[in-house]
Amino acid sequence: MKKIKNMDVEWGYSGERGPEHWHELCDWYKEGASYPYQSPIALHHQTDGSTVTKTASTNLSLNELAFYYVQEHFTEKEFKNTLHFVPYDTKSYVLFHEEKYVLTDIHFHMPSEHIIDEQQEELEFHLVHMNEQGENLVLGILFTLSDEGGLILQDQEEVVWDYDNHAEWFNPKIFLPQNKSHFYYVGSLTTPPTKGPINWFVFDTIRPMNRRFIHQFREEVAENNNRPLQPTKDRTITYFTGVKKE
Ligand SMILES: [Zn+2]
Repeated sequence: MKKIKNMDVEWGYSGERGPEHWHELCDWYKEGASYPYQSPIALHHQTDGSTVTKTASTNLSLNELAFYYVQEHFTEKEFKNTLHFVPYDTKSYVLFHEEKYVLTDIHFHMPSEHIIDEQQEELEFHLVHMNEQGENLVLGILFTLSDEGGLILQDQEEVVWDYDNHAEWFNPKIFLPQNKSHFYYVGSLTTPPTKGPINWFVFDTIRPMNRRFIHQFREEVAENNNRPLQPTKDRTITYFTGVKKE
């Protein structure tokens, strides 16, 4: 029997449709929540016997993640309680273990969902990728907000942000830090249906983003659209100091 996936089951970040109730809202969300390794989680650079979360600090110099990002045309859409930048032609991709994952969506959460060394940041961008089988790979990139300077100003090189027409030309690499050191672990989507497994790459270089950029979307984005931390359980979290290719 064909399963009906209702994309319109309403959910939010507080009250009766908040994160602790997502799995009760419909069968599809319930199925996603049954995946045992949920996201986001707390990340740590060092293993400390006294902390709850353990991190396998395998300090490998390379991870099999390679970037093939290009300048492309994005449109702006509001759904799932945040704002999304969706590429028209999906030209940008990454290779992970020789498998191609195409960039399909960029969106953000405030404050950050992942917490590194007990520190929650003001903003976390998610760059969502998908392979031919429909499996996801997500990059998590944390930011602080700054009043002066910072990333993605309208007049910044390589970025044309047309707020009136909800269309932009940019290379998604503008969201990536120069230093590609990151945590890698397997988890879930952080929004319903919270399904897994998802390959997660969370970068630990935190840069300032100009408050004016985020301010443009304030009316469309729910405040505090971050899912609370989920139990790490027996997961292995690996720390990598670099990537294969840019
Ligand atoms: Zn997200």
